[in-house]
Amino acid sequence: MTQPETGPVLGRLALIGLGLIGSSVARACNRYGATQEIVGYARSSATRARVTELGIVDRVVETPEAAVADADCVMICTPLSSYAAIAQAIGPHVPADAIVTDVGSVKASAFADLAAGIADPSRIVPGHPIAGTEHSGPDAGFAALFRDRWCVLTPRPEARPEAVTTLTELWRRMGSRVERMSPEHHDRVLAITSHLPHLIAYTIVGTATDLADDIRSEVIKYSAGGFRDFTRIAASDPVMWRDVFLHNKDAVLEVMQRFNEDLTALQRAIRRGEGQTLEDLFTRTRAIRRGVIEAGQHVPPDPARNGTQPVEDTPSPPGDAVA
Ligand code: NAP
Repeated sequence: MTQPETGPVLGRLALIGLGLIGSSVARACNRYGATQEIVGYARSSATRARVTELGIVDRVVETPEAAVADADCVMICTPLSSYAAIAQAIGPHVPADAIVTDVGSVKASAFADLAAGIADPSRIVPGHPIAGTEHSGPDAGFAALFRDRWCVLTPRPEARPEAVTTLTELWRRMGSRVERMSPEHHDRVLAITSHLPHLIAYTIVGTATDLADDIRSEVIKYSAGGFRDFTRIAASDPVMWRDVFLHNKDAVLEVMQRFNEDLTALQRAIRRGEGQTLEDLFTRTRAIRRGVIEAGQHVPPDPARNGTQPVEDTPSPPGDAVA
C-alpha cells in the first residue's frame, strides 16, 4: 500500500463520470490518500453497479445533483458535449465554496459551458490531464495513469487562487506535473500534439477500410509495418473524439490547413524526385523524437505499476492515444 505524502488535499470529491479518467482519478486519490471521501455519479446503472463492485469510490449515487451535495470539489469527467446539461443540473446544488473542475480535452469551450450553469465562475478551474489510453469505461482506469504526465490547468485571471493551489496539489499528489496556461493556448497546442494525430490515424485506418478486399486483408497481415500503431489510436472512443473536433474546431482547422500545405509540398518533392528535400525533413523530424525522449514523454503510462491490469494491456508506442 502506497503511503500518502501528507494528509488529504481535499475533503469530499464529487466525480461526475466514472469512465477511464474518472475511475483513474478515484483510484489515484485512494492510492495516494489525496481525498477523505469520493462520491461518484455515472449515467448508466451498469457503470454505477460496476463501480460499486470495484469499490473505488465511497458512495455511488444516481443523480449528478446528489453527487455534488456537500462536495469540496466537483470534477466533471464526461464527454465535452455533456457539460452544458450537467452544469445546468448541478448549478443550484454545488456548495458556494466548492471548486468546480473538469478533465476535458478542450478547454475554452469547457469553461464557457460550465460557467453558463454555475454561479460564480471564479470557482471554476478547468483542467486536462495529458494522459490516457484508447480504452473506455471504469475497468479501463488505473491509479498510475497520471504518473509523470502533465496536467494542464487553465484558470481565468479571475479564478480563486486558493482553488488553483488546491487543484495543483491534487494533481501533483496523483503523480502529475502541473502547468498553467490560457485555455486558448492549450487548445492550439493540443490541436497539433493530439487532435491532428488522431485525425490522421482515423483517416488512414478509414482509407484502409475502404480498400478492395484482397488489399485490405494484406494490410492487416502486414500491419506491423506502421499501420498497427495507427489502428490503436483510431480505436479511441468515437463520442469523445467527435466532441474534441467539434469543440476545438478553429484550432484544428488551422493546423489541418498547415498540414495540407506541408503534405502537398511532400507530394511535389516525391513527384519531382527531390530526394534532398525528403532527407532534410526526415532528419529534422528525428531531432523532434530525441526531444520527446529527453523530456521523458516517450514511455506510455504503465497500468502494470498499479497491479490492476495485465501488462499486455499497456499501450505501445508511438503515442498514448491521449486526448
Ligand atoms: P469514458 O471512459 O467513455 O467515460 C465517460 C463517462 O462519462 C462515463 O461514466 C459515462 O457514463 C459518462 N457519460 C457519457 N456521456 C454522458 C452524458 N451525456 N451525460 C452524463 N454522463 C455521460 O471517457 P473518458 O476517456 O474517461 O473521457 C472523459 C473525459 O476525459 C472527456 O471529456 C475526455 O475529453 C477527457 N480525457 C480523455 C482522455 C483519454 O485519453 N481518454 C485523456 C484526457 C482527457 P456511462 O458509463 O454510464 O455511459
